[in-house]
Amino acid sequence: MIHMELNKRQTEILEIVKIDGPITGEQIAERLKLARATIRPDLAILTMAGYLDARPRVGYFFSGKKPTQSVADSMVGMKVRDFQSIPVVVSEDSSVYDAITHMFLEDVGTLFVVNRSSLLTGVLSRKDLLRTSLGNTELEKIPVHVIMTRMPNITYCEKQDTLLFAAKKMIEKQIDALPVVEDRGEGLEVVGRITKTNITAAFLSLADDHEL
Ligand code: ADP
Repeated sequence: MIHMELNKRQTEILEIVKIDGPITGEQIAERLKLARATIRPDLAILTMAGYLDARPRVGYFFSGKKPTQSVADSMVGMKVRDFQSIPVVVSEDSSVYDAITHMFLEDVGTLFVVNRSSLLTGVLSRKDLLRTSLGNTELEKIPVHVIMTRMPNITYCEKQDTLLFAAKKMIEKQIDALPVVEDRGEGLEVVGRITKTNITAAFLSLADDHEL
């Protein structure tokens, strides 16, 4: 399906069907003083685009639905900026204990680590913190910078990227979240967060007002 501008004849057909539908193709052609074959492509387009519905032996009627873009077109149009969440960050010298507390309080699965200039230096996932907790009793004494995944090994995206790009990165790298960053020249500032939850929300928004 394609999102399209209707031509003059298609608009006329739509008006006829709106007012007099259900109406057969034959009758529509008669009203326009055209051959049935001439308007066949127009009827096909209007039906495919979702403006009209057709029933055998009844004819065409106005669907009442908004013409829909294809799901694929809608997906390509989804941008990181429209679905991102607020980032949750900790500083490099926070302790692992503090990071765990922060993760619970903020109810997130991934923390981003920043330096004194608020630039991205690392990522902490649930399992990074769990792994360190096993067999370590002095979590207050371990700074997060010794256990985090660090730059330049961080996968990130920018707010103008498509959500598909972000989803692809997460699947390829097998990670749950990406920082959304802005390049500040001397480093990357964290301005957002994209997680698998945001992708799920976007997926759901494609269903629009369909029965769930
Ligand atoms: P979990 O710990 O639940 O498996 P992830 O799958 O997100 O969570 O993390 C797996 C590993 O990848 C962790 O070591 C984490 O530090 C790292 N990681 C998470 N997100 C990123 C990212 N955006 N860029 C680089 N590494 C990441």
